[in-house]
Amino acid sequence: MVSHSSDEARGTLYIVATPIGNLEDFSARAINTLKSVGFIAAEDTRHTKRLLNHFGIDTRLFSLHDHNERDKSSYIGELLSQGVSVALVSDAGTPLISDPGYHVVNYIRGEGFDVVPIPGPSALIAALCASGLPTDQFFFAGFLPAKTKARKEVMAEWRKQSGTVIFYESTHRIVESMKDVDSVYGDSANLVLAREITKTFETFLMGTAAEILSRFSDDPNQLKGEFVVMLDCQTESDTESKDAENRRILSLLLEDLPVKQAAQLAAKITGEKKNALYQIALEMQSS
Ligand code: SAM
Repeated sequence: MVSHSSDEARGTLYIVATPIGNLEDFSARAINTLKSVGFIAAEDTRHTKRLLNHFGIDTRLFSLHDHNERDKSSYIGELLSQGVSVALVSDAGTPLISDPGYHVVNYIRGEGFDVVPIPGPSALIAALCASGLPTDQFFFAGFLPAKTKARKEVMAEWRKQSGTVIFYESTHRIVESMKDVDSVYGDSANLVLAREITKTFETFLMGTAAEILSRFSDDPNQLKGEFVVMLDCQTESDTESKDAENRRILSLLLEDLPVKQAAQLAAKITGEKKNALYQIALEMQSS
């Protein structure tokens, strides 16, 4: 618990977004805030120092990362109570978004101090808005588990989710992740991979996981850099309503046609696979 001196003396904690590649994305407000505060809490002080040098900012830094967040929370509380404002930054993009800072903000808000966002770049929003996938609802899954089994279990849960699913991936695991998406969803998920957003080799790849894997084999440069993966996958309710519609069409066709022709025609009408419809038609006829 931090003891507050007086209301006028209280500092503010600013959550400041930094560029995810292109330095021109650093906002004037972000720069001015970093110049005006007493301290900057940075995920990696050496990394942030380079950014600060580029913009002529000489504010003092201290490190705040996953392993010291809880200890640093009370230190930041002390600074704020002495009227010293603090800015929190991460290596890139918006702090707290798959980055340290949650415990600090939670603690500082709990202590009744003002926490002010200075918004700016975030890879997930930059990727989504240019993806062409649905934006009205989305689910951000952050980084996925490192082990394939756990990763596939997480992926399978997305069937219950409506809207676009978004996750972060590194160059080391992008192939494994794509293989897992392929094994869980096959061609029932449409993907967009946003790579190196705002940087020289910014690329958006679209297709099924298998198609994206084959793009990787054709051009290994597509494996380099940082990725945001976005999926438009069939949800359980999509699958159920599609199944109901297939059965409705088949039952009408089966009134006048043999199974094989009914399945052929249903495939033309629905765009579904003929063999799958043939199996359903057989099952419907026998019941
Ligand atoms: N806080 C950051 C944000 O607001 O986006 C995310 C930090 S997280 C530790 C780093 C991950 O974000 C990378 O592994 C990658 O998945 C994604 N990322 C960051 N910058 C990116 C970029 N320029 N292009 C594509 N993905 C990026």
